[in-house]
Amino acid sequence: MSGQVKYMLDETQIPKFWYNIVADLPVAPHPVLHPGTKQPVGPSDLEPLFPMELILQEVATERQIEIPEPVRDIFRMWRPSPLVRARRLEQDLDTPAKIYFKYEGVSPAGSHKPNTAVPQAWYNMQAGIKKLTTETGAGQWGSSLAFAGSLFGLDVTVFQVRVSYDQKPYRRALMETYGARCIPSPSSETDSGRAVLAEHPHSPGSLGIAISEAVEVAAKNPDVKYALGSVLNHVMLHQTIIGQEAIQQFELAGDDPDVVIACAGGGSNFAGLSFPFLGLQLRGGRKRRVIAVEPAACPTLTRGKFAYDFGDTSHLTPLVKMHTLGSTFIPPGFHAGGLRYHGMGPLVSHLYDLGLIEARAYHQIPCFEAGVQFARAEGIVPAPESTHAVRCAIDEALRCKAEGKAETIVFNLSGHGHFDMGAYISYFSGKLVDQDYDEGELAMALAGLPSVAAQ
Ligand SMILES: *Cc1c(COP(=O)(O)O)cnc(C)c1O
Repeated sequence: MSGQVKYMLDETQIPKFWYNIVADLPVAPHPVLHPGTKQPVGPSDLEPLFPMELILQEVATERQIEIPEPVRDIFRMWRPSPLVRARRLEQDLDTPAKIYFKYEGVSPAGSHKPNTAVPQAWYNMQAGIKKLTTETGAGQWGSSLAFAGSLFGLDVTVFQVRVSYDQKPYRRALMETYGARCIPSPSSETDSGRAVLAEHPHSPGSLGIAISEAVEVAAKNPDVKYALGSVLNHVMLHQTIIGQEAIQQFELAGDDPDVVIACAGGGSNFAGLSFPFLGLQLRGGRKRRVIAVEPAACPTLTRGKFAYDFGDTSHLTPLVKMHTLGSTFIPPGFHAGGLRYHGMGPLVSHLYDLGLIEARAYHQIPCFEAGVQFARAEGIVPAPESTHAVRCAIDEALRCKAEGKAETIVFNLSGHGHFDMGAYISYFSGKLVDQDYDEGELAMALAGLPSVAAQ
């Protein structure tokens, strides 16, 4: 056989529960702190921003949390997603390794993000909320929440990072097609936005600034809640349907991965694929290598500090302990917009600190090389974020070739790149550069971390 082999599940095999890795961790994660008192926050501190069901999931310690049936019903639009054996890529690389990918680009928004946007919108609707605010960089999260909002009749307002708003009109058009309102950030609609504009009238914006604007609107308006597309524990939880499906699909394939790989911005698609496999290991199963891949221009796990920090630029969010480059750090522009965040999800950071996962950083040019090689072998054009996982999977397969090992590798193909062809155009025209972040700026951002007594 020379082509792809797909391992498909039927609709009844969509998981009925989300998997909460907190139940299996050898060391409990660090508490979220109130920015004023620096004491652990209680559920009521988070109530202005999130509905109670999501707050309870954020702090949950039970292993399994039931997926509401109406949410599973919507998942049937695109789930279960396929697990694919990339045989043509294997042949291309002439490797004894077996390469599989879990393809999340089959969702309506083209990435894994609707896996959490749909339950978040549903829990808000159940709590009687009519309006949601959020931020988006390149637009993947904004379009996912816009899609989810349209399913439940919620008004969605998206603060989109100015530079992306100007450069990526198609994602904005997609958000508007689903009925969302899209505002370039920094905007004059919030105190946070006006403060930035007063100092930098032509600010290109950043995710940290856009989060401040969206959080501010929710905090000031009792009928508006906020939704975040990554980083938080409940987002990691929702994404675990990816890995749970993959475990069932590997049973169909009669195989079992030795190496599990995903790109990591805030860490949610990484958590989604890897946490269920790590859970097997933590409950006494065999050890696998699990690798998070990040951009060299925003190397949160490999260069950041594991410290308490704010999630946003204006310091409106609670303090979370995470690998961070500092909340004022603005990474240089590169094409994987979904990976340009200064922090990493607390659970992923904690696992890295415990030595349960590995991390690796790549520059964008070798990632696009891998993305093009993958597209020519397997037909799917990966999102720029996902090319980081493809690069790592190819490098691991080449290592297997050098060592003569027939290992099994799986990576998460977190999304397709159909809205990012501008990045591919830059790559083909030789205009992409591999920029490093500014060491001085990083040092300054890290020096500005809030001081918190040991927790
Ligand atoms: C948003 C996004 C990412 C990065 O976010 P994580 O929370 O780290 O998964 C990766 N890939 C795609 C396609 C995305 O849209």
